[in-house]
Amino acid sequence: MRVVALIPAAGQGRRMGAEKPKAFLPLGGLPILAHTLQKFEDCPLVDEVLPLVPPGETLGWAEEIVLRSGLKKVLRIVPGGQERQESVYRGLQAVQGKADWVLIHDGVRPFVPQALIQQALSETFQWKAVVVALPANETIKEVSAEMAVVRTVDRRRLWMTQTPQSFEFPMILRAHEEARKAGFRGTDDASLVERQGIPVRILQGSRFNMKITTPEDLVLAEALLERLNRDSSSEFRVSG
Ligand code: C5P
Repeated sequence: MRVVALIPAAGQGRRMGAEKPKAFLPLGGLPILAHTLQKFEDCPLVDEVLPLVPPGETLGWAEEIVLRSGLKKVLRIVPGGQERQESVYRGLQAVQGKADWVLIHDGVRPFVPQALIQQALSETFQWKAVVVALPANETIKEVSAEMAVVRTVDRRRLWMTQTPQSFEFPMILRAHEEARKAGFRGTDDASLVERQGIPVRILQGSRFNMKITTPEDLVLAEALLERLNRDSSSEFRVSG
């Protein structure tokens, strides 16, 4: 049973306002992507790690990360697409026939706890489609185009999805193919599976598993990294 981790890192990072794509910005002196890839390299259940990166010169930067970090599970690097969904689809195509299970994890979530990766996979072997998520902990309002509140949504049943999201390979490949045919664009991979009526299981994630999107996130990430380096015994809690 072969497990492949797809790491979409092909975003240009416009919200970051930096010159480099955001997964290549430094965090504690190393590119964010290097931290993320290492997490999957270190997971004994993962056989291959496949980064999707922006085409062009960035491919060379990614090769350098793999060489410098000595990542043995990165067997190839594939150029991503215009949108995240397209990047993931290219990754799925690249591993067709070579994967039984896939984990999909954003390249810009470098703090994913090791225990969470393993737990997501073992739940996937049972449930076939698993999404890491957090319960909504703030009150959520729907607003109009004029920024007037339309309603307050009952947050008790709302969960905010993160990654990893993990699936049986044929299921997620089919979901992506059907979505493409229908011109459907989802904001995560699970939504493509859901639209086929397939049940998706939620696994509670970690607040440390933040997505680095804006310059503020990078400040928080630097502080978190420093704290974790100082206190290595505090291996990230899986919940909370
Ligand atoms: O844009 P967003 O924050 O949702 O990006 C989540 C992840 O998807 C990031 O790691 C980003 O690099 C990746 N991505 C991608 N291809 C794109 C856009 C985003 O691989 N075209």
